[in-house]
Amino acid sequence: MEQQTKTGAGKVYLVGAGPGDPGLITLRGKYLLERAEVVVYDYLANRRLLRYVSPSAEMVYVGKRGGVEHSHTQDEINAMLVEFAGRGKTVVRLKGGDPFIFGRGGEELEVLAAHGIAFEVVPGVTSATAAATYAGIPITHRGYTASVAFITGHEDPNKSTSNIDWSKIATGIGTIVVYMGIKNLPHIVRNLIDHGRSADTPVAVVRWASTPEQQSVVGTLATIVDDVRESGIKPPALIVIGEVVKLRESIDWFEKRPLFGRRIIVTRTREQASELVAGLEEAGASCFECSTINIEPVDDYRILDEALERINEYHWILFTSINAVRHFFKRLYAKGMDARDLKGPDIATVGRSTAELLLEYGINADLIPPVFTGEGLAQSLLDLGVEGRNILLPRAQTGREILPETLRGAGAQVTVAPIYRNVPPQGRKEELRAELERGKVDLVTFTSSSTVKNFLAMVAAENQQELERLLSGVKIAAIGPITAKTVTDAGLKVDIQPEIYTIPEMIRAIIEGLRSD
Ligand code: SAH
Repeated sequence: MEQQTKTGAGKVYLVGAGPGDPGLITLRGKYLLERAEVVVYDYLANRRLLRYVSPSAEMVYVGKRGGVEHSHTQDEINAMLVEFAGRGKTVVRLKGGDPFIFGRGGEELEVLAAHGIAFEVVPGVTSATAAATYAGIPITHRGYTASVAFITGHEDPNKSTSNIDWSKIATGIGTIVVYMGIKNLPHIVRNLIDHGRSADTPVAVVRWASTPEQQSVVGTLATIVDDVRESGIKPPALIVIGEVVKLRESIDWFEKRPLFGRRIIVTRTREQASELVAGLEEAGASCFECSTINIEPVDDYRILDEALERINEYHWILFTSINAVRHFFKRLYAKGMDARDLKGPDIATVGRSTAELLLEYGINADLIPPVFTGEGLAQSLLDLGVEGRNILLPRAQTGREILPETLRGAGAQVTVAPIYRNVPPQGRKEELRAELERGKVDLVTFTSSSTVKNFLAMVAAENQQELERLLSGVKIAAIGPITAKTVTDAGLKVDIQPEIYTIPEMIRAIIEGLRSD
């Protein structure tokens, strides 16, 4: 499939990463990242895209932050691409936005072409369209403008001749979008006004478009220099000039989302679906995902294995977590069994998410308690009568004893089968501390007691006073009463708690709880 120009030569894929939001890379770009052996990326490409890259791939950061840190010169980057491809590697050169729009993509490809190296280019969403879109400015609009120009603002204002013909741009184009123009903003504004553009023309400056850090300011050619200075907006930012900017008043949507600008620490297990993060981000929040637990299999499955041998003797199987469902089926399949072998016992889950996952394994839960806790489940079972019943509880190695004890107390035989372990992860401790020290965090979310305990262990505060200092101004959301109790037992206060213990309800409660601030 690979087109090769020289025997043994690799290929370079010049891929547009999009403007910032990692969701804006193309499917082709993602596909290539997954298959790359080497990824050469720079400052504007979102690091979160690197999660698609295979762990065995080599990653090279080449910086290039407009004048601030030139970690590699363009010549060095070109040489690097030639070198990797020459060694037969599949290289992805990942660039912010679109590689061919002020991205020096053309220069890199000329060098590759000169060396006879095969290449492909994958376009990306350029930051101009992203900035306009996410600032609520249609870059063209029938009622306002029929033309757009993308220009660079990077030109040295002291240069005697300019590549930009300001006299034509100023009055000949409807919407003007300026890349790399913040430093030269006064010069750009002056040129446009001097060449006949009205000083009342609306202008928007948008920084880090499409990301949770997006910041924007709107003014006119007459005011924008002062507006930008006052707002403190720094590069990377785009300048959008033209009558279309007015439309933002009615269709600004991105920055209006309920959690926009909120910083939330989401504690969770690495394996858990990122439903919570996705929901919070959809509402505009910027999430710091902090894995406080790693889920690992147990060394010894003896109890579960024995139970599976005589699974038809059980009246109930109880699933109290998503991880229990996953690890149970993993083991079931490993033993050559499947859902058909479970037709004997009735099956209960602690809540709705667990039941939904169970359904993916082909089983409709027979019982979901109205209250999604171990106690709630125990109560529902007691109501049905458990005396003399055989109950299998596959779960974490260390778990709460309330459910098995209550059931045993009512005369049931309960087999507790440990099938996974919660292990606190090592990394990210420093990052978490730094995040809290910065003082920008609005909220921490907890979805189980273990996340609370492990979070506290990771924060590693010297004493209660230090813990309170680190968490001052930070609200706490707990998914349910058990988790909440673990929080209050640690001397902290729960600010947000949903009435129904599910992730969607938790998201709703967070939106509600932070709105009133
Ligand atoms: N190839 C890129 C542009 C690279 S030039 C693209 O197609 O978008 C670098 C300039 O792009 C920055 O100085 C800034 O003006 C702009 N830029 C890139 N990403 C941006 C973002 N997320 N928000 C605002 N401006 C951005």
